Amino acid sequence: MANCKHCGAPITWKQSANGKWIPGNTDGSDHRCMKRNNPVSAPAAAPRQMTNKDGSKPCKFCGKDILWKNLDGRWIPHNPDNSKHMCNRGVQ
Ligand SMILES: [Zn+2]
Ligand SMILES: [Zn+2]
Repeated sequence: MANCKHCGAPITWKQSANGKWIPGNTDGSDHRCMKRNNPVSAPAAAPRQMTNKDGSKPCKFCGKDILWKNLDGRWIPHNPDNSKHMCNRGVQ
């Protein structure tokens, strides 16, 4: 859920067929902002992608960005600073 940076209303971004991001209201209609005159060119914050540019992914337990590295045949999650990701919620 995002908020319109002009009026603050909760909005959702949807991508149209030509690749433009269009703000929509939570009820699914287009968000025609009263406080914004210009057409929208890009969302303030693009919707989160599952995989980031550096290959990191959000941890499925805590949601933090982690990087999977193969150490001796085992995939170990790492934090962006290269330390092992010791996830509180992933430990049994
Ligand atoms: Zn607005
Ligand atoms: Zn985690």
